[in-house]
Amino acid sequence: MEKYILKVNNLCKKYGNTMVLQEVSLSVPTGSIYGLIGGNGAGKTTLFRILAGRSRQTSGQVVLADANTEAEIIKERRNIGFMTETPALYPNLSVLENLYINQLQYCGKKDADSANEALELAGLYGQKQKKAKHLSLGMKQRLSLASALLHNPKLLILDEPSNGLDPMGIIAFRKLLLKLNADNNVSIIISSHILNELEHIATDYGFLHNGKLLKEISSSEISKSADSLEQYYEKVIEGQHS
Ligand code: ATP
Repeated sequence: MEKYILKVNNLCKKYGNTMVLQEVSLSVPTGSIYGLIGGNGAGKTTLFRILAGRSRQTSGQVVLADANTEAEIIKERRNIGFMTETPALYPNLSVLENLYINQLQYCGKKDADSANEALELAGLYGQKQKKAKHLSLGMKQRLSLASALLHNPKLLILDEPSNGLDPMGIIAFRKLLLKLNADNNVSIIISSHILNELEHIATDYGFLHNGKLLKEISSSEISKSADSLEQYYEKVIEGQHS
């Protein structure tokens, strides 16, 4: 097994004249839950969209498992599940039908077994006949997660998945991610503004600030430093930790 499921080397992204990602390099260990922390506009969504193949970098390299060439990367991207910040759901279709649409778009055919399995994993099986518009916010997040899980990804990319969830929803979602990671060997990259939330699950962190990756560190290294994640992050942003 590869030591890193994903590596990013010197990635840059320019929108017009603005460089929103500047020489970003990071390594996501296989089996990890990697927390990408950054304030508004830091570049998290931009980075994730590039990783998932939804946008192209201006320069730099993405290495998935050991895929290096463009053709290998396209093939390896099939092992990625991407849950976006603002999931597109079809409100008048049922939960199950939403997944079918997703399968038709990405695989060209419906597959009831994998749709049901994804619903089971996302804890939404009991709601599969419900129309998407009648789901609570937490259930919508689960549906979005189920879509990302449809093709049994080895790597899940989650862009602020807890946005808008209530405390119980956050706890349930966190447990679900830990279970997927432990029982299904899914590596996870997750972005959030809520440090406290990541602290419960992440094994590794990257601190992205104004398009630059200021620091990459494991949670065990932070524990050794006597700082909490919040204190450590603050010091990195203030330039006290190199
Ligand atoms: P947030 O936490 O607020 O969601 P983020 O870290 O996900 O922020 P991005 O959405 O990646 O940040 O945005 C990074 C920068 O890129 C911002 O300055 C944003 O305005 C800019 N940006 C993002 N998408 C585009 C686009 N399509 N065209 C031009 N600028 C863009």
